[in-house]
Amino acid sequence: MIENLDMPAEEFQKNGFEFIEWVKNYFIEIEKYPVLSKSIPGSIKEQFSQTPPSVAESLKNILSEVDRIIIPGVTHWNHPGFMAYFSASSSGPGILADILSSALNSNGMLWKTSPALTELEEVTLNWFRQIVNLPDEFWGIIYDTASVSTMHAIAAARENIEGYDIRTKGMSGRTDIKKLRLYCSEHTHSSIEKAAITLGIGLDGVRKIPTDNIFRMDYKKLEAAIDEDIKNGFKPFCVVATIGTTSTTSVDPVKEIAKICKEKNLWLHVDAAYAGVTAVLPELSEFFEGWEHADSIVINPHKWFFVPIDLSILFTKRKSILKQAFSLVPEYLRTQEDKDVTNFMDYGIQLGRRFRSLKLWFVIKHFGVEGFRERYREHLRLGKLFLQKIENSENFEILAPMNFSTICFRAKFNGSENEEDKLNELLLDKINQTGKIFLSHTKLNGRFVIRIVISGLRVEERHVLLAWEIINQKYEKLNNKRV
Ligand SMILES: *Cc1c(COP(=O)(O)O)cnc(C)c1O
Repeated sequence: MIENLDMPAEEFQKNGFEFIEWVKNYFIEIEKYPVLSKSIPGSIKEQFSQTPPSVAESLKNILSEVDRIIIPGVTHWNHPGFMAYFSASSSGPGILADILSSALNSNGMLWKTSPALTELEEVTLNWFRQIVNLPDEFWGIIYDTASVSTMHAIAAARENIEGYDIRTKGMSGRTDIKKLRLYCSEHTHSSIEKAAITLGIGLDGVRKIPTDNIFRMDYKKLEAAIDEDIKNGFKPFCVVATIGTTSTTSVDPVKEIAKICKEKNLWLHVDAAYAGVTAVLPELSEFFEGWEHADSIVINPHKWFFVPIDLSILFTKRKSILKQAFSLVPEYLRTQEDKDVTNFMDYGIQLGRRFRSLKLWFVIKHFGVEGFRERYREHLRLGKLFLQKIENSENFEILAPMNFSTICFRAKFNGSENEEDKLNELLLDKINQTGKIFLSHTKLNGRFVIRIVISGLRVEERHVLLAWEIINQKYEKLNNKRV
């Protein structure tokens, strides 16, 4: 007989305290780590045993491998110098809630399989909807990522097409239906095309509309493209607009796009994965004008809402269409409460789902709505501070308007376009090698551009000033070498 199948309670407690101590120290000392891991490909896996352990090892032993092997291979998203991609950080209350979620190990496939999981999700998403000022026609569901939320939204849009009955008949081999067309801008996130790949719309079914000089979808060209496609025998069914694009955080003219969608009876999906949370700020309301006309909206609390990854919210006014697209209930999953409750398995491809709303609930209660406003306002202030530094410098230029706290800039080297691009790439490398800050890049109009994103929970003014100092130092060094 084995005495303890799981870790004994005393040992769990002892290890747990040590573990929390470890995490506490990690946060205190986080700035001593290089924000971008210095690992080279393959260097981490070769340090592990290539065969699984056949006998038990102590947690102490496991933790020592964490320190020795894992940590050097980590890029520290919670580091205040992490200003790459869309900086996403996790907070204390979110981390603790994740422990609770794992301890309970609830699976929310049905209301019955853990009533609190379903009902807390309903409560927190209703709160969140109010935080971002959306009307109460919007109903929400949590998925893991924005890519998956968007895939479900586009599946609902596809289900919404009258007379096609794709759920039953599929799309392949049919001559009785037209080819589907989905519209988005050149700056739309790649997840929209991935959804098209997944849903049988295909990359050819995605029409990318050109953007204006500040990277917003040209809605007149959208309208013309839809009309042209209808004339040529296609079936337009969905438009994806973005509030806060990935490269520049540009904002599509959602109000105008919504009007076109209404006229032409198309599903409007709004991708506000990163910037959506800032709808809590009245001073940014112009960016969100018209988004209440959307059929669906995606926002990621795991980006700028300090919730540990992963947690993405899909809001939709068309709950019943989403259900129509996905509900399929085998006998063994039928319950007496089906008529009276939400069974989240009816609204997506996954059956099992973890208790993600716990971390959203903890985080909202811990900071309070005002707490988010304060933090976003500080990020916007720091963004402006950095923007001014660039604007006042002869050596750098801004490539896109700063809408939130993401800045696209480039150093000037007085060379050909090609040379300048290469030098900016090298500059970015040198900056990231310092381990103090981590920035990323994009391409705008074919040119290499450096991006800095200020939205980490731990970022302070001194980190932004340090970033500016490092950027200048590395620039001077590169530029002097050339002269
Ligand atoms: C981050 C982001 C996504 C993808 O998010 P995941 O949750 O990683 O799938 C999609 N769209 C926009 C605008 C984003 O910023």
